[in-house]
Amino acid sequence: MGELKNKRIITVATTGAWPTKENTPNVPIEPDEIAEEVYNCWKEGAAVAHIHVRNDEGKAAMDFSKFEKVVSLVRAKEDCDIILNLTTSGGIGLKEDDRIKPFHELKPEMASYDCGTMNWLHTSVFENNPAFLERLGTLMQEVNVKPEVEVFDPGMIYNAQYYLKKGILKGPLHFQFCMGCAGGIAASTKNLVFMHDCMMEVAPDSTWSAFGVGARAMEILYAAVAMGGNVRVGMEDNVLYKKGVIAENNMVFVARAKRIIEEFGLETATPAEAREILGLGQ
Ligand code: ZN
Repeated sequence: MGELKNKRIITVATTGAWPTKENTPNVPIEPDEIAEEVYNCWKEGAAVAHIHVRNDEGKAAMDFSKFEKVVSLVRAKEDCDIILNLTTSGGIGLKEDDRIKPFHELKPEMASYDCGTMNWLHTSVFENNPAFLERLGTLMQEVNVKPEVEVFDPGMIYNAQYYLKKGILKGPLHFQFCMGCAGGIAASTKNLVFMHDCMMEVAPDSTWSAFGVGARAMEILYAAVAMGGNVRVGMEDNVLYKKGVIAENNMVFVARAKRIIEEFGLETATPAEAREILGLGQ
């Protein structure tokens, strides 16, 4: 298996809640499109797939039957051992029970845990209230789903510390530093270093990953690899491959991340290696 410290996990977020077919015809929306894209991203080197689904109108949704379909289609691909990470946000203003049901019933290895409430893109409230976070963490432990602690600003890292102390979250934690979303921390190397410092203060045995939305996505990608972190790529975060160029698919992002990791003299983690790094199934 080689040295795990030289391995970097690529998470692909193929769909997210926002891009529509009007924004880019290349975003996978239907369950079979998402599953096929996940499979192809695994072939390119992604070890984790962060899954969102859409309703029949293509809008953000926590439609259980769509999650069930995506999960079963990916699991049906016998040679594919990619780690599934289901969203628990889905979008803005969705019902808490609906946000919980997919991970609770389908038992992916991971699910997102958005560690605080924020004003989302200056337009709405992305609500993750204390009672919900306690319920979410408790239920994730109950079904042995590892939370991916998504943090959009440093305050959320300290929220994670609180839930860790309270036993709602169980260490070692895995953080996803989500940067450049309006309402959260801006995407810059300086800010990533600060987020990392905060994490080291509250839970130094944590693993972490990062992504940047928008113009500074590449900066965060390079900085995360350089700092020893893992990376997330995909159309949930960026529909442009580079300025003015719409990505053909999600695989091009994964392939680029893999090239960057390898240029550093590192290797991309296989799903089996990622399971070890993240302590999944323990
Ligand atoms: Zn997401």
